[in-house]
Amino acid sequence: MSEWCPRCHKKSVVLVKRNQNKGLKYYRCKHCGYEFVRRYSCLKLVTVHLPEFYIKGLEELVRRGRYPNKSEAIRVAVRDLLARELWNREEVC
Ligand SMILES: [Zn+2]
Repeated sequence: MSEWCPRCHKKSVVLVKRNQNKGLKYYRCKHCGYEFVRRYSCLKLVTVHLPEFYIKGLEELVRRGRYPNKSEAIRVAVRDLLARELWNREEVC
């Protein structure tokens, strides 16, 4: 699965290095230069009830090519919430 840049949403992302022990992958966006980290071994399933118009909105973002799928859009939204409310930084998982 190819990664999307969390900042500019382009698919021009290259894998810089990986840390097998921590399950981390380091990426850089060739388009905007943004560097970010993904944890690829820590995805867990969470079931959430959402209002239908949230889901329609998420599907519209996917249709416009902003995100590859609804899951990725939700991950970005949760990441931004946690960065703002909890981590006080923009570093990404
Ligand atoms: Zn970018």
